[in-house]
Amino acid sequence: MASQGGRGQQLLLAEDTQRTSGRDARQANITAAKAIAQAVRTTLGPKGMDKMLVDSSGNVVVTNDGVTILSKMDIEHPAANMIVEVAETLEQEVGDGTTSAVVLAGELLREAEELVEQDIHPSTVADGYRRATVKAEELLAAGAIGVDRDDVDTLEQIALTSMTGKSAEDAAEHLAGIVVQAVRAVAEQEVIDLGEIDVRTVEGQAVTESELVDGVLVDEEPVHAGMPVALQDVTVAILDRGVEVDEPEIDAEIAVDDAQRLREFQDAEQDSLRERAERLAEADVDVLFAGDDIADVAAEYLASEGILAIEDVDADVLAQLARVTDADRLTTINDLAGDRLGTASAVDVDDIGEDEAVFVEGATDSDVATIILRAGTEDALNEIERAVDDALHAVRVTIEGSGVLGGGGAPETQLALALRDFAEGVGGREQLAVEAFADALEVIPRTLAENAGLDPIDSLVELRSRHDAGDATAGLDPATGNVVDMREQGTLEPVAVKQQVLGSGTEAASMILRIDDVISAS
Ligand code: ADP
Ligand code: MG
Repeated sequence: MASQGGRGQQLLLAEDTQRTSGRDARQANITAAKAIAQAVRTTLGPKGMDKMLVDSSGNVVVTNDGVTILSKMDIEHPAANMIVEVAETLEQEVGDGTTSAVVLAGELLREAEELVEQDIHPSTVADGYRRATVKAEELLAAGAIGVDRDDVDTLEQIALTSMTGKSAEDAAEHLAGIVVQAVRAVAEQEVIDLGEIDVRTVEGQAVTESELVDGVLVDEEPVHAGMPVALQDVTVAILDRGVEVDEPEIDAEIAVDDAQRLREFQDAEQDSLRERAERLAEADVDVLFAGDDIADVAAEYLASEGILAIEDVDADVLAQLARVTDADRLTTINDLAGDRLGTASAVDVDDIGEDEAVFVEGATDSDVATIILRAGTEDALNEIERAVDDALHAVRVTIEGSGVLGGGGAPETQLALALRDFAEGVGGREQLAVEAFADALEVIPRTLAENAGLDPIDSLVELRSRHDAGDATAGLDPATGNVVDMREQGTLEPVAVKQQVLGSGTEAASMILRIDDVISAS
């Protein structure tokens, strides 16, 4: 019954509507989802390969990042797209684990196919998977190792693990250090807002030249070459307007009858500009950020007073500067009371790439940070940015209180064992689904082994026996092929990420399993 074109359908649907139902629909969807999993599985883990993606206009992206691969692939099949969407949601929520989730979903569907062939209803399989996931998430939480938010070494190991495989490798430790510092810098509150970390990319120079700025980076230059470029213990004024000659409010022309009057008029304008510059100097302002133009004459005066002034700063940057330096946004220079000014420990003008920028560091309320990533080429830069993004998320969830687990397939092997025990108590047909779920989990260690050119069976056998013997953190080290204690090796991942991987993988698989009718308008 490949395509039901019976009378009933004709009554409801337009003539050229395509419809596949039941087994055929499910089969087609599962095949598409498995193909997606197959496409990304070779990128999993530290020995995973990269993919080169070429779009229709010839642009090339080389990446190891699961979600990037899936989003750049031009996927048409609706079921396959559902998997991609699940991966994208996962990426937004926890920033890591997308390849694992997709590979797991593919394996869950492969196992499901077999069960369905044994006449187990797809809904029963989905229910069993759900049940296994809930249990697995519980077991993961129970096995978690707590991490102190000040334990920088462990946090760096977590950052490193999440960056593995992405070509950041050579500079990975350097980047891990930056990532941890950045997250700690903005970790004042319980819930960390990664939006407070501004990640900039600059082409040219080595990755190891990447750095952390403990503050805000403003992409503007001083308005005058004679201004100071390195200031310490700085008083900051934030002005929403510029420092210019006031425009006449109404469109009036000023009639000037002789040269004398003209000069007087211009002098008055100059006086007014100078006066405003003097006010800033009297208030001991060291740096002025203005939202509009600063007239040349004013710039001259400011420079001669040793004040660093920046013009045309975007409103949102002004708002951020005001917040972090604890300054008020002034609308006029008339009100420069001390408590309306802000402070920073240093303000420097420096090159970033080909342009100059102003670095505002160590501000009063400095819960912001800027990461400047550098790499030789745009491709390398993009991949490093993705790696850093994964690491930022991993460190964030850990500082927010997620415990960690060993990597290298340790949690999956451990869970598979525990779930096979658990299945016995489930009974009925669902038991088979829970067992299938346990088997599916082992796709992670198996794939890590395959991608490292190891014999997956040997690796699995050893992993299982180590876990059987009570070694819960035994995982595969793809570099040596040995099964080692992941905790000692420092390969650590947040429980929150693992839980979401299981949740998303199962959700994607179940969604596809439950579809038994595909109706597409032509
Ligand atoms: P994902 O998109 O799922 O995060 P990755 O390519 O980042 O995919 O691979 C993650 C997997 O690789 C996890 O199972 C993790 O435990 C494992 N892994 C990462 N680094 C190591 C390592 N140094 N040793 C062993 N396993 C590792
Ligand atoms: Mg990862």
